[in-house]
Amino acid sequence: MNTPYVGRFAPSPTGPLHAGSLVAAVASYLDARVHNGTWLIRIEDIDEGRSVPGAAEGILDLLQRLGMQSDRDVVWQSRRKHLYQAAFDQLAANAYACGCNRREIADSRLGFGPDGAAIYPGTCRNGLAPGRTTRSLRLRVPEPGADLVEFTDRFAGPIRQRLALESGDFVLKRADGYWAYQLAVVVDDAEQGVTDVVRGADLIDSTPRQIYLQRLLGVPTPRYLHVPVVRNAAGEKLSKQTGALAIAPDDEPAAVAALQDAARFLDLSLEPVDSLAGFWQAAVPAWARLLSLREVAA
Ligand code: GLU
Repeated sequence: MNTPYVGRFAPSPTGPLHAGSLVAAVASYLDARVHNGTWLIRIEDIDEGRSVPGAAEGILDLLQRLGMQSDRDVVWQSRRKHLYQAAFDQLAANAYACGCNRREIADSRLGFGPDGAAIYPGTCRNGLAPGRTTRSLRLRVPEPGADLVEFTDRFAGPIRQRLALESGDFVLKRADGYWAYQLAVVVDDAEQGVTDVVRGADLIDSTPRQIYLQRLLGVPTPRYLHVPVVRNAAGEKLSKQTGALAIAPDDEPAAVAALQDAARFLDLSLEPVDSLAGFWQAAVPAWARLLSLREVAA
């Protein structure tokens, strides 16, 4: 029998929920419901410098008012640092101290990976140069030729990335002392038994690094489905500052309208609805229909 479905929504509390993060929340929630699965919320507040006080509580409150509630206790990354340390210890043989700053990496002119980050040239791979001090801890990726990671995205289909050429050795612990997103997300998805990751397409280029980490840590690779990212008229990804959803408590029409916007963006075909209950009743089968049209077999 297949492993029971476990999905999750993992917002970073750097501001209030906005129309873009709502799309990811709705897609992951609907996918879990269609598969009679468990849906979890995880607060990704590992970057404590960027977390905004009260934002996580605001996101959780709004999700609840929209009808989305975590099926288990909400997990907070800032309280799980021991798990990231333990995973790092497992990876230590493949990790090294790096003394480079951003400008030095950009100056090496290897270009930028698909996610816009400068490709790391491997300067500190064989030890820090004399006089340099450790800034970050990096993970060694395989040599070119042995560095291909492939997976099948449930919407985008086959994705291939050459880790050495398109990312380079990547950061596990940042210069500011925080664990990197790539490590924390892999540890948490594994520890929470997540079988299906449904999130925004801005993270599709991170997925090969996450799969590589899963292999090194000996944990299963979930299925992935990346949904399109909501952009503003200028083509920029919505930021939590600009696109915040203002929905007053008890304003059910506004809540339904926000969900309908997210559903429209996801290409769900819904009959008109006028209540939260009506929305979810219509949206679950609509997501199932969308999957039957768009899903790529792994
Ligand atoms: N915390 C990330 C974000 O808010 C999402 C991470 C994920 O879904 O893997 O963009």
